[in-house]
Amino acid sequence: MTRADRVEALVRERELDALLVTNLVNVRYLTGYTGTNGACVVGERLRLFFTDFRYVTQAQREVDAAFDREQGRQDLLEDAARHLSGRVGFEDHHLTVRAHERLRGFVGDGVELVAAGRLVEDVRAVKELEELERIRAAAALTDEVLGTLSGGTLAGRSEREVAVELEAEMRRLGSDPSFPTIVAGGPNGALPHARPGNEPIARDTLVVVDLGCVVDGYCSDCTRTFATGPLSGDAAAVYDLVLETQVAVLGQVRSGADCREVDAFARTRIEAAGHGEHFGHGLGHGVGLEVHEGPTLSRTADGALATGNVVTVEPGIYVPDEIGVRIEDLVEVGESGPEVLSGFPKDLVTVA
Ligand code: ZN
Ligand code: ZN
Repeated sequence: MTRADRVEALVRERELDALLVTNLVNVRYLTGYTGTNGACVVGERLRLFFTDFRYVTQAQREVDAAFDREQGRQDLLEDAARHLSGRVGFEDHHLTVRAHERLRGFVGDGVELVAAGRLVEDVRAVKELEELERIRAAAALTDEVLGTLSGGTLAGRSEREVAVELEAEMRRLGSDPSFPTIVAGGPNGALPHARPGNEPIARDTLVVVDLGCVVDGYCSDCTRTFATGPLSGDAAAVYDLVLETQVAVLGQVRSGADCREVDAFARTRIEAAGHGEHFGHGLGHGVGLEVHEGPTLSRTADGALATGNVVTVEPGIYVPDEIGVRIEDLVEVGESGPEVLSGFPKDLVTVA
């Protein structure tokens, strides 16, 4: 079954006649098109792709032959609307209220527009072999980039300088960052989404480095926490707790495991050590064409893991104004258990 076939099966299951796909990542996933204006429609024996004249040549090259290509105006909704009838799903998490109003005007009374939720995203969560290969390659590149830190220095340099250097290394290796690299030393490490600053990184502290690469559109995501010298007993204990938790929870990442329970497994351990309120984010998220996608491992997650999912496992402890530690691996839910794709060592590495 092709990706579009899998989406078509869900479209029928929900008693829809077609799904209008406007999220460009989903359009890329279904058709192969990588331009910045496009939409597609998937229904029973219905495969339509729309773009405007600027992308016609690109669409000829990229769009899967199963799709009929149509050239529309820059606003593709009106063009797509002419092909819609019956109960038509739309991506309510993506289409703006204004765009939805316009679409309703274009389709007229004969069409019932139905909020379809993350239907394509649900299909995307289960990766195919070629997708897994790209994610593995992106993870391997991330290991390589992290490796360049090992021989270098952190203390005395600014977070920004280190982040710029890591991203330059990614580009030198033919990749791009999948998100802005985080380098957060000492108290800044206690901000889970810290932006690299211009102050020099201190000695004898912890530095959180969170980065990812893109290979053929597919992302990786990995965090390691480094030391810039001997640590206080507290900091070392927090590192050990995060590491023990991270390693223990990896074994839970199996097909059929309840996403909320996997998160709870990590959370219970961190709570038992008295750091419950210092672990404020979810345990992990899916990674693929986007660096944050389904499934989610968190307190409010729904559903269970399935073979072919790729998720991060990233427990963290953030002691406000003091330190932060996060250790994040990319993990494939394999047929016979978890396959960790991140290879960089997790024992505390000191980069003075
Ligand atoms: Zn990350
Ligand atoms: Zn992450």
